[in-house]
Amino acid sequence: MIAPGGDHFGAADLVIRGGFVVVPEEQGGIIEGDVVVRDCRIVSVGAPFSGVARRVVDATHGVVVPGLVNAHMHECLERGIFEDLPFLRWLEDFALPKDRAYEPRHQRAAALLNQLEMIRGGTTTFIDIFRHPDEAATVALTSGLRAVISPQVIQSVPGAGETLEANIDFVERWHGRSDRIQAWFGPHALYSCEADTFSVMSRHAARLGVGLHTHLAESRDEVRTISEGTGLRPAAYLDRLIDPGHRVLVAHAVHLTDAEIELVASRGWAVAHCPTSNMKLGNGVARVPALLAAGVTVGLGTDSVMTNNNLDLFEEMRQAALVQKLTLEDATVMSCREVFAMATTGSAAALGLGDQIATIEVGRRADLIIVGLDACHLWPLLTGAHNNVLAQLVYSAHATDVRTTIVDGEVLMEDGVVATIDQDEVSELVGREARDLLTKAGVLHAGCRHG
Ligand SMILES: [Zn+2]
Repeated sequence: MIAPGGDHFGAADLVIRGGFVVVPEEQGGIIEGDVVVRDCRIVSVGAPFSGVARRVVDATHGVVVPGLVNAHMHECLERGIFEDLPFLRWLEDFALPKDRAYEPRHQRAAALLNQLEMIRGGTTTFIDIFRHPDEAATVALTSGLRAVISPQVIQSVPGAGETLEANIDFVERWHGRSDRIQAWFGPHALYSCEADTFSVMSRHAARLGVGLHTHLAESRDEVRTISEGTGLRPAAYLDRLIDPGHRVLVAHAVHLTDAEIELVASRGWAVAHCPTSNMKLGNGVARVPALLAAGVTVGLGTDSVMTNNNLDLFEEMRQAALVQKLTLEDATVMSCREVFAMATTGSAAALGLGDQIATIEVGRRADLIIVGLDACHLWPLLTGAHNNVLAQLVYSAHATDVRTTIVDGEVLMEDGVVATIDQDEVSELVGREARDLLTKAGVLHAGCRHG
């Protein structure tokens, strides 16, 4: 079936040929045909290209999918180090001391590791909230990924995060500098930043037309702390502190009342749902069906490699579906169509990129991945009117099934070979810098004694 059409003559920068293509439902859902890219954008979908192409990528036995979008993550190094600890001990004895020890060299290694993993796993856009944002943004310039960088400002434990002044300075310096990289404000949470900090950041965000990303209502402890300290639930307190005139993305939003969900919806705040992190830290299950029913934009995030422990958005889609079906004892909630939308259009809208990326349509930025369908864990593959391609992507595929990753029409990985990051160099760098970081933080041996 060939549907959507576009400009399929003349010259092209890139043609992706031979695979299924996931297009918006109203344009056919799953079609077969060429995807043609010119000047970073998709110019034709479906029709056979008959012009001259600078590069042709083969998608045979695969499916061309919009690049996945990670709506909440921290680019860090500490994977599999501090496991299965009570939350407060994990935070105070390990997480905060090593956050304080972070230097730019550690952050560069973390950014290279995380961006390599995202390219390999089919994530084409992400929002990072962590330390030394210049390192993360500089790595994104060369990795080719689309990024929103929000420095993580923490004030309650001095030195554990960035400062308000550093965040303002970063946004001023990076605002408008790259087509692919946005700079946002990143107050860590209501309990770790001063009230004034939220207000000041909010005024700057409105002035510059950028967003603000924070953690909200992640744990019951947080709700109790904010409620006892302010007399308000977290969403109401956040609403009191910030301006309505800019984009807001809150991570987790696990413990929201009906009234808070209505408030989030009425303010147009987006939510980054991180089911694996919420499960791993024992924080609970976000009320995603209620958020969606209220009209809230919900994206999907992995959170960091400390609390996941990977950046695989295929796995995250699956977790997002399963945890709701389990909790609500209803197999019909969170369909594969809904969770796929969360990892693509939902996350993109949350980052203010809803009209730029995340669907394969003429005029969109060419952020695309090719997922191989020839592995046995994806069999049987049904084609035609009753195809099961989307179900296989959500319920059976893994990050390792991604063959090719493309951002803005640039091929960052083809057939499993990453072109923009030297994997051998990162492998060596990450081991060395992780050990250095944990040693400086004084938690190397403590961290390895858990269990
Ligand atoms: Zn987080």
